Amino acid sequence: MRQQGQNPLEQWIAAKTGGDMRAYQLAKIRETLDMVTARSDFYRERYQGLPFGGVKSFADFEKLPFVTAEDLVKDGPRMLCVPQNEIERIVTLQSSGTTGKPKRVYFTEADQALSVDFFHHGMRCLVDETDRCAILLPYQSPGSAGDLLARGLRRTGCGVYPYGLIEDCEAAGRFIKQNEITSLVGNPVQVLKLAETMCAGGLAARLRSVLLSTDYVPDAIGTRLAALWGCAVYEHYGMTEMCFGGGVYCSYLRGYHLREADLYFEIVSESGAVLPDGAYGEIVFTTLTRTGMPLLRYRTGDYGRFKKERCACSGTLKLMEKIKRRVQGGVSGANGKRFYLCDFDEIIFAEDGVGDYRLAIGGGDLKTGDGNLAVGGDMHIRLQAVQGGALSGGQRPDGEAEQAFSGTQAPDGNGAKGAGGVCGRIRERIRAEMGFDPCVTLEESAPPGNTNGSNRLSKRTIEVHGRR
Ligand SMILES: [Zn+2]
Repeated sequence: MRQQGQNPLEQWIAAKTGGDMRAYQLAKIRETLDMVTARSDFYRERYQGLPFGGVKSFADFEKLPFVTAEDLVKDGPRMLCVPQNEIERIVTLQSSGTTGKPKRVYFTEADQALSVDFFHHGMRCLVDETDRCAILLPYQSPGSAGDLLARGLRRTGCGVYPYGLIEDCEAAGRFIKQNEITSLVGNPVQVLKLAETMCAGGLAARLRSVLLSTDYVPDAIGTRLAALWGCAVYEHYGMTEMCFGGGVYCSYLRGYHLREADLYFEIVSESGAVLPDGAYGEIVFTTLTRTGMPLLRYRTGDYGRFKKERCACSGTLKLMEKIKRRVQGGVSGANGKRFYLCDFDEIIFAEDGVGDYRLAIGGGDLKTGDGNLAVGGDMHIRLQAVQGGALSGGQRPDGEAEQAFSGTQAPDGNGAKGAGGVCGRIRERIRAEMGFDPCVTLEESAPPGNTNGSNRLSKRTIEVHGRR
């Protein structure tokens, strides 16, 4: 593991930008605009009548219309700037919209090479040549996130051990142990279950660093992992539209440093105005170096901000605060305040032995006009215990798997480690801190969350049932 110090990304990015970041980014934006208006029907139509030829400053650029996920669904192929035969990989994502049409993102070989390069330098923030790094992400198909990561990682000189998504925590634990893994990259909920399972089974791990990716990372999960394994917990921010890689923590663990020579980031308000550093808004990015399907001012739907201050690791790189949620998708509590899945995460994942959970609301009138929800009916939280962990059936004398606490029912005397104690504590905190009164149950073998179905790494959501 690296000592705290200079950020390996800094030198890499400086070599690409020539030292003047703003001038480089503006020049790349203008090059990209020239390319898309010459080669893409979508962009030519979108910018018709706009003074794109006259984009001479960031102020000019900020007047250009946004590109949205809906545009990608509807017009994706018309955004291409190369012939189809130059496309090396197409990634299909199920969109959450009502049309059910998938979103497809297209990459050339050169587009993918840029991400490999980012993974090479970005991973040096947490590994060196003495590490043995496991990749707990899909890697089998060429050009997948795990494959590009493995290619970048090999260049750092560390040992690379692709494994894939975790289907069985005990098997994954044996893989970690047998290969003497010192660093790993995986999905937060999956890695938490792995750590809990390994510790419960007495399987020692010598992990120095963990990188969590593919979903928002609750602070409670980072805290539990650091305690279970005594390792540094890093986070990565990326999405398919970025060709997977976006930004990564440095050894100070204070936020993401972004691949600023490849992606230009903006934070915008609900009305689309660009916000200053320090202000929260929607994250928007522009590809500066991609040629297959360039994205200009693409609205990510993620909610976050740049920190005003610089990080101790670098004099030039910006620092983006850890991203916790989407712009939309909150639930309005009794007092009108909105709560998001991340708020429930911090309460639920704080409990030892909880491996995952499902949150469903329904049975009442739900207002969705502004993209947010109001609970008119019941809320049900189904906890999934880690096998062999503090909450699993084997440790409770009665062997009873499920206990519900709802309404006026009080927690029983199972004690702090029992299911009743955990369900009761979670319900009490949610009632006190948010004003909801959920029914909290513990399930013996809940559906395996992130490892289920074809859209295997989709972000967790609040499930809504019943009338809208
Ligand atoms: Zn830093």
